[in-house]
Amino acid sequence: MNVGTLLSEINDVIPFDKVESWDNVGLLIGDIQEEVNGIITTLDCTLEVVNEAVEKDCNVIIAHHPLIFKGLKSINEEGYNKIIRLLIKHNINLIAMHTNLDHYEKGVSYYISEKIGLKNPRILLPLKEKYCYLQTYVPKDNAIHLKDALAAAGVGEIGNYKHCFYTTEGTGEFEAQNNANPYVGNIGEVHYEDEMKIEGVLKESLSRIVIKTLIDNHPYETPAYQIMPFEVESNFGTGIFAELEVPLTLYEFAQLVKERLQLDVVKLIGDSKSLVQNVGIIGGSGFDFYQSVKGTNVDVFLTGDIKYHEAHDLLMHQLNTLDISHYSEYVMKDGLKSILELMDLECRVIASEINTDPFQVI
Ligand SMILES: [Zn+2]
Repeated sequence: MNVGTLLSEINDVIPFDKVESWDNVGLLIGDIQEEVNGIITTLDCTLEVVNEAVEKDCNVIIAHHPLIFKGLKSINEEGYNKIIRLLIKHNINLIAMHTNLDHYEKGVSYYISEKIGLKNPRILLPLKEKYCYLQTYVPKDNAIHLKDALAAAGVGEIGNYKHCFYTTEGTGEFEAQNNANPYVGNIGEVHYEDEMKIEGVLKESLSRIVIKTLIDNHPYETPAYQIMPFEVESNFGTGIFAELEVPLTLYEFAQLVKERLQLDVVKLIGDSKSLVQNVGIIGGSGFDFYQSVKGTNVDVFLTGDIKYHEAHDLLMHQLNTLDISHYSEYVMKDGLKSILELMDLECRVIASEINTDPFQVI
């Protein structure tokens, strides 16, 4: 298997386009033609992790945090550039799986919920996907041609199916006016035509090309159609909602989280005596989502990187929160390893043993 095949296998399960607009995922350094001899999963791609990959003879590193975010101006021995040079020297391919892994239903927050031992995990804040509903009317004999053209433009794709339409028979009627050039019927006379009504759905992003396709492939001078936007919740989204088997006080739960995630510190914000059972988790830095999280039915919110004034905001909004540090995302190393193993990639997958937490608790 080469790197290109690996990327496409991953993409089938955890698509690289399910990302935040600012993110940078996929193959950041390497060559899609290279044969994969081993994969190492890590939270951060540090110098130590690259050396570990060399020692363990793995020429692919999959990191959660992208090493390259912005445009590079030079690749020298300064700062992060050292890591890039070391990767290239050793011919190691670097893949980033960042917010696409966060948005996956069995992604980073899921692994955190699993490690804590919570039950019934599901997406906390599902992403909304934008679709349009299309209906149009066409003479009976032209219906198949028009549906084929619309399907080729992306109408009627639902789950693992293509060419999904609903068609009903009916009668269209119209009266062509003086400047018209009617396909059927005469100027100034009401014409009745056996027609088919065609209904289908499409991604909103395709709507312009679909309307053009409809007009180009419809026999009428002025085809009638309606296109209406709607949203559906996707299987992807931010964070995980999960439950404790029995309620605990916030203090007891904080102790459980600290022990199960093997953390040096857990910071508690809220009423330590309150009972909690429904848990919202956003691995990494989830503070920006707190108002949406507050709108769910969670008793406690777990995330990292909470600043002093943000903690006051959470107190004022009475959202019990545990700061489990950004590094709690380290659980993705084993989580991603299990997912890759389920893909039957026929190559070794190793979870990095390097602790990449930049903090030491004294
Ligand atoms: Zn992170």
